[in-house]
Amino acid sequence: MPVETKTTCPYCGVGCGVIATVNDDGIVSIRGDQDHPANFGRLCSKGSALAETIDLEGRILHPEINGKRATWDEALDLVASRFSDTIAEHGPDSVAFYVSGQLLTEDYYLANKLMKGFIGSANIDTNSRLCMSSSVAGHRRAFGADTVPGTYEDMELADLVILTGSNLAWCHPVLYQRLAAAKAARPEMKVVVIDPRRTMSADIADMHLAIRPDGDVALFTGLLAHLSGSPAVDHAFVEDHTVGFDAAMQAATEHSLPDIAEATGLTIAELIPFYELFERTEKTVTCYSQGVNQSQSGTDKVNAIINCHLATGRIGRPGMGPFSLTGQPNAMGGREVGGLANMLAAHMAIESAGDRDRVQRFWASPAIAEKPGLKAVDMFRAVADGRIKALWIMATNPVVSMPDAGAVEAAIKACPFVVVSDVMAKTDTARHAHVLLPSLGWGEKDGTVTNSERRISRQRGFLDTPGEAKADWWQMAEVGRRMGFGAAFAFRHASEIFAEHAALSGFENLGSRDFDISGVDPKVYDGMAPLQWPRPQAGDAGTTRFFEDGRFYHADGKARFIVTALPEVDRTSADYPLTLNTGRIRDQWHTMTRTGKSARLTAHIAEPFAELHPRDAQALGIESADLVELESPHGKVLLRALISERQARGSVFAPMHWNDQFASLARIDMVVAPVTDPYSGQPASKNTGVRARRF
Ligand code: SF4
Repeated sequence: MPVETKTTCPYCGVGCGVIATVNDDGIVSIRGDQDHPANFGRLCSKGSALAETIDLEGRILHPEINGKRATWDEALDLVASRFSDTIAEHGPDSVAFYVSGQLLTEDYYLANKLMKGFIGSANIDTNSRLCMSSSVAGHRRAFGADTVPGTYEDMELADLVILTGSNLAWCHPVLYQRLAAAKAARPEMKVVVIDPRRTMSADIADMHLAIRPDGDVALFTGLLAHLSGSPAVDHAFVEDHTVGFDAAMQAATEHSLPDIAEATGLTIAELIPFYELFERTEKTVTCYSQGVNQSQSGTDKVNAIINCHLATGRIGRPGMGPFSLTGQPNAMGGREVGGLANMLAAHMAIESAGDRDRVQRFWASPAIAEKPGLKAVDMFRAVADGRIKALWIMATNPVVSMPDAGAVEAAIKACPFVVVSDVMAKTDTARHAHVLLPSLGWGEKDGTVTNSERRISRQRGFLDTPGEAKADWWQMAEVGRRMGFGAAFAFRHASEIFAEHAALSGFENLGSRDFDISGVDPKVYDGMAPLQWPRPQAGDAGTTRFFEDGRFYHADGKARFIVTALPEVDRTSADYPLTLNTGRIRDQWHTMTRTGKSARLTAHIAEPFAELHPRDAQALGIESADLVELESPHGKVLLRALISERQARGSVFAPMHWNDQFASLARIDMVVAPVTDPYSGQPASKNTGVRARRF
């Protein structure tokens, strides 16, 4: 008899429900789960091809030490002793974990607990730093907590959906399908796409604003200024529930419309219709993703958007609100457990002595990190200069995905002790590991993930354990035990970790923190249906929106307007005259270690490419399908020329996915500058000055 398992897609932050069927012949088939409230049965190309990526080719099936097969005891003893010895000699800040939004919440929880509560350092950061940390920082500044107010349903209920810095059609395809269906059912709904490129998402747009790279702060500052004196401003809401409106509005109105046009690269004739559309449309949702977050002004972009929603009171109500779309399947879960170097577990603040004391008492831990740890870019700099002497990398491939990837690879190569936990044996990062630990993959492991609308779903195992692979949480629990922290890491099943995570979220909470799932009964874990947080009490809370009551999480209960200065955005020069913008393509995921296995997915776009405007290509003597060398001060890559009117003049787009297994000299992050946002530490992966030449 075929056996069906309800689980969750492991790719993007939409978090679609999947039904995996293991047929009598052992063949696995995949379909969308009609009952899952994220996708109602829909899947995109990547989700549909999941069964094509679960073979064991290329998997690591046994622990290895220095490239030789080892037992688990040998590997774990070595990891525990090297970390303990390094800490004893150089202190807790001499070690680090670099983890991932691909981890399940239970894995993430234990990594954070081990580092912050027992090792006593906050040197744990995650590839989610590259994904949505600017949203986290912007939310905390505006709301006093990292709260995503709305739900996917709000996009369908809105009369105006603004997509800024989001190629929803390719990066969150099922959400795009939902939006397109809602617009088809209600053609009066308006969609505005703000993006330097005319992406596929613009195909359903009523308006496409080809903004200059990083012009978003100026665009939304100009919108706030446009709202000055408008009846769209909700003065009662502003008065009762916010602080700082006058200062933000005064700063905004100091910029003239021609200044805004100059800063955005848009004409006044393009700006005014957009501003008037926002002004007259109460039910507006502004969705944003990496084009906003991956920027040196990412946090200010987030706050410039939120400012406009606060001014109009369009937040916390159906069909309204700013909406951060997370890239990864469990970036949100990582935020919940404190997986970022500057956060504590359960949305508590590492800067707060009260929160540190609370978490330490709950864990009964010997230590608690006293200060924020190193964020991703700084962490690898610390590896490079020898401050970090032992590094554990889990479920991520920084040698491909970090900016200035060549320098990151050199740092990892020079690090005295590197542990890598992964499913694939020969990733660009795994080949530099002293200890390589085989992890369970999708379909094998058990746990939970949280999607962009705060919905927690179960990932369930339905495949046999390959070789000696083990869950990531088990690996950390074993190392914690061997470092002498026994009782605190005596977990036998992921459900026990979830129960502790849920209990911590409610510990001395009293409504003072947004993240609270203490009402979820851990006994229902195996059969748990998708649920949205918060869930402080038992029972089905249905759809949840934050801020419906106008109460925010700053001490006075009020939201904050943030004054956002217009940033310097031009990173080009005479030597490097083009702006490089990196991003996803429709059918690949991250560094292709899984999706690269599917011939069907690879057929969509078979080679890494550099997308150029025809006039730029002509000026450079580059023709379609030529090989193009892109170069910055950090490195160079070789890509296939794709010449397209969709591309803005003066810019070049290249996909982030290719690693050296699939094409040599195609790691685009070799070229990307390691420039970061000053608040979030998120790298500016969409704005590096480069030059291009025909190869
Ligand atoms: Fe998976 Fe995202 Fe596609 Fe849904 S939209 S099937 S979560 S990749």
